[in-house]
Amino acid sequence: MTRWDRGLPRYGVGHRERVVRIREAAGKLPGPALCGAAYEGVGVAACAATGRAAAKRLLGGA
Ligand SMILES: Cc1cc2nc3c(=O)[nH]c(=O)nc-3n(C[C@H](O)[C@H](O)[C@H](O)COP(=O)(O)OP(=O)(O)OC[C@H]3O[C@@H](n4cnc5c(N)ncnc54)[C@H](O)[C@@H]3O)c2cc1C
Repeated sequence: MTRWDRGLPRYGVGHRERVVRIREAAGKLPGPALCGAAYEGVGVAACAATGRAAAKRLLGGA
């Protein structure tokens, strides 16, 4: 097996369910707004979408 360092991350099995649990837990806290490649997609467009949603949450719009 070859590991390519600094390549695109690949989500593991159960990732979608894990993200649901993380977002539920974080949603109960006043502080964090989660975004980026760790959650709903590694492409720039997906990262930007989670960034916009996180900014909206921090600004009180979601
Ligand atoms: C080689 C490669 C090619 C890719 N090509 C494409 C492509 O063609 N098209 C596409 O859509 N996507 C592509 N991607 C995927 C996409 O670029 C990334 O998934 C995306 O940029 C990740 O965005 P992010 O905001 O989650 O993380 P990043 O863009 O990594 O942003 C994280 C930021 O946090 C900063 N940071 C880290 N730790 C700290 C800290 N402790 N304190 C403060 N700041 C910190 C970092 O300096 C960085 O600026 C590619 C990725 C790679 C690696």
